[in-house]
Amino acid sequence: MNGPTCRTCNNGTLINRKVYRMSAGVVVIGYIFLIPSLIGVLVAAGLFFATGSATKDTAKKLKDEVAAELANAEVPQGIITKITDLKEVASADLSPLTEKQKDAVRSGQAKMAGGTIGVGIGAGLAGGTSLCVGFLSLVGALLGWLLVMKKRVLKCNQCGAVVPAS
Ligand SMILES: [Zn+2]
Repeated sequence: MNGPTCRTCNNGTLINRKVYRMSAGVVVIGYIFLIPSLIGVLVAAGLFFATGSATKDTAKKLKDEVAAELANAEVPQGIITKITDLKEVASADLSPLTEKQKDAVRSGQAKMAGGTIGVGIGAGLAGGTSLCVGFLSLVGALLGWLLVMKKRVLKCNQCGAVVPAS
């Protein structure tokens, strides 16, 4: 590609090139920011999704455990489903039950409520941590990217004069 003639030396040709906006030292710092930050973004995204599926697994385990205990105490399936779905059980549903079954219902409800809160807190903490790491990494990556950004210039192939490209 033949560019315009250099106005500094009136001899060389101006060639379109991409150069770093910043000085070499700043560019190095930029890459030091950019590379770990990009890894951080990936790790945070991975953690975020891993937490989501782990939370689902834990919640399912809790449901299965409570359902098994209730079935053991011969609580009717309809009531078991309501308890594991965290729905209100009508007192009319409970009145035909034996004391032993009612006890199982109460302990099952308590376990579901407590376990659900526990799972929620765990997921919140893990999710919050990965979001926080992800956000900081994004900021770092953006900062790094700004430092290593390139710009187009016209550079003379004879005298090395640099002119900003329009
Ligand atoms: Zn020149």
